[in-house]
Amino acid sequence: MDTAIDAVTARPSTQVGHFDVLVVGAGISGIGSAYHLAQHCPGKTFVVLESKDTFGGTWVTHKFPGIRSDSDLYTFGYSFKSWTGAPIATAAEILKYMKEVVEENDLARHIRYGHRIDRASWSSSDNRWTVEATRTDTGEPCRFTTNFLWMCQGYYRHAKGYTPKWEGMDEFKGPIVHPQTWPEDLDYTGKRVVVIGSGATAATVLPAMAPKCAHITMLQRSPTYFRIGRNAIEIADELRRLQVDESWIHEIVRRKILYEQDAFTKRCVADPEGVKKDLLGAIRSHVGPDYDVDTHFTPNYRPWRQRIAFVPDGDLFNGIAEGKASVVTDEIERFEAKGVRLKSGNLLEADIILTATGFDLCVFGDIAITIDGKPLVLGDTVTYRGMMFTGVPNLVWVFGYFRASWTLRVDIVADFVCRLLAHMESKGAKRVDARLRPQDKDMPLLPWIDPEDFNPGYMMRGLHLLPRRGDKPEWAHTQDYWAEKDEFPKIDLDDAAFVYA
Ligand SMILES: Cc1cc2nc3c(=O)[nH]c(=O)nc-3n(C[C@H](O)[C@H](O)[C@H](O)COP(=O)(O)OP(=O)(O)OC[C@H]3O[C@@H](n4cnc5c(N)ncnc54)[C@H](O)[C@@H]3O)c2cc1C
Repeated sequence: MDTAIDAVTARPSTQVGHFDVLVVGAGISGIGSAYHLAQHCPGKTFVVLESKDTFGGTWVTHKFPGIRSDSDLYTFGYSFKSWTGAPIATAAEILKYMKEVVEENDLARHIRYGHRIDRASWSSSDNRWTVEATRTDTGEPCRFTTNFLWMCQGYYRHAKGYTPKWEGMDEFKGPIVHPQTWPEDLDYTGKRVVVIGSGATAATVLPAMAPKCAHITMLQRSPTYFRIGRNAIEIADELRRLQVDESWIHEIVRRKILYEQDAFTKRCVADPEGVKKDLLGAIRSHVGPDYDVDTHFTPNYRPWRQRIAFVPDGDLFNGIAEGKASVVTDEIERFEAKGVRLKSGNLLEADIILTATGFDLCVFGDIAITIDGKPLVLGDTVTYRGMMFTGVPNLVWVFGYFRASWTLRVDIVADFVCRLLAHMESKGAKRVDARLRPQDKDMPLLPWIDPEDFNPGYMMRGLHLLPRRGDKPEWAHTQDYWAEKDEFPKIDLDDAAFVYA
C-alpha cells in the first residue's frame, strides 16, 4: 500500500492495489461476472467494488411490500446455478440464491463492500485505469488500478427513484412515498392508499398491501399490458416427482421457457391483435364480465413495446374483483390536502400516496470517467453490441435484456469477456478498442433504442445520456437474446471492429 494525493479532494488516498480486472457492483450482474472470472480466468486477479454493505443490488434496494421478480428465476437465475423454487421469487429468495453462489464459489474474498467508486480515469501511456473510491464507513478515499473495467452497476440511481413534480405536493397531508425508498415504519393499516403508476411495481404492491389497507387504488394515466399465469411450472414439478437431477431440470425448464418466450415475442409482432385479445381475455376472466377492461386494461400501444408485467396467479386482479383494490384511469391535475385532484374534476381521497413512477436512469453509476484526461461523453460514442464503446478502451458494460431476463445477458457477456481477456493475453495486447470498420463508415448513427420498438419512460427521459447505435447488430444492443446466444460465442475477436495495442 502507498498513499497519493487525491487530485479532487486534495486528501491522501490509499493505494489499495492493482488488479487485472475490476468489477463495478455486486448485483446479480457483478456476482455473475465474478463467478465467470473465477471459473474461466483463474490466472487473473480481480476485485469487485460495491458501494452497499452487501451483494444483491436491486434486490437489496427495493423493500416495498410484496417485492418480487416479474420474470421467472429459471432464466433470471444464472445458467450455472439451478433454481429449485417457484418461478416468480421474492427479493429474499433471490438474495438467498445469490448468497449460495457467493459461498459455493468462494467469491466473498474478491468483494470489497462499502466502496463507492467516484472516478475512473484511463491512461493510454500506462494502458490502465485508475479507479478512485470512497470508503462509505470512514469516508476514506482509496485508489485502485486495473487493466480492465467490467461495469456491472445497473441502469438506475439506487439512492432515489423518479418522482415527477406535481402542483400542490406540499399541501398533501399524508406521506408521499416512492417505493424505491420505502420507510420501514410506514403503517398503512386501515389507510386509503393511492398508487400512482401501472408498471410492475404498482402491480406488485397493490395485491401485497390490499389486505391491510382500507382501500388501495392504482391511478394510471394510461393502461399497461399484464400477463397472467400460474406461479408454477408443471414440467419442473413433474421432473421433480421423477427425482430428476436439479441441474437437468434447470436446463430443461430454461429451454422450455425461452422457447415459449421466443414464440410469444414473434407472435406479438406477427399477430399483435391476437395477443392483445388473449391478454385481455385472461384479465376479463379474473375481473368479471361487468368490469370496464377497455378503459383500465387496454393499452393503446402494441404488446411488447414496453415490458409486459407478469401477474402470478392473477393476484392483482383478484383484489380488484374482491373490491379491496381498484383502478382509476385519469390524469393528475394537482395534489390537494386530502388527495389527488384529477383532470376529470374528481378528487381521489388518500391517506398515503405512493409514486410508483419509475427510475432515474444512471448510466455508469455516477462515476466520472475520463479518457486521457478528457471527460467521457457517452452520447458521443457508438456501442459495440451494447457492451463496448468506441473511444473507451478496456471496458465492458453489462446491460441485460428487457424482454427476456436480464441475467441471460450477464452470462453471455461474461463468456465474451473471458474469451476477450484470454485473446488479449495470447496476443500480448494491453489494450483493446472497439472501432468502426471501413464498411461502417456510412452507417447511420441512431439513438440507443428505437422508441418505436421499446419506449419505457426512464429510457426516453435519459436517451441523450446513452451511446448511439448503428443499424447493424454489431453496433447495437439488439435486445434479441435468441440471436445473441448464437452470435456471441462466434464473435471473431480478430475482426476489424477490435483494435489491439
Ligand atoms: C423492483 C425491480 C424488479 C425487477 N425485476 C426484474 C425481473 O424480474 N427480471 C428482470 O430481468 N429484471 C428485473 N429488474 C431489472 C433489474 O434491475 C435487473 O434485472 C437486475 O437486478 C440488475 O442487476 P445489476 O446487477 O445489473 O444491477 P443492480 O441490481 O442495479 O446492481 C448494481 C450494483 O452496483 C452498485 N453500484 C452502482 N454504482 C456504483 C458505484 N459508483 N460504486 C460502487 N458500486 C456501485 C450498486 O450499489 C448495486 O449494488 C427489476 C428491477 C427492479 C427495480
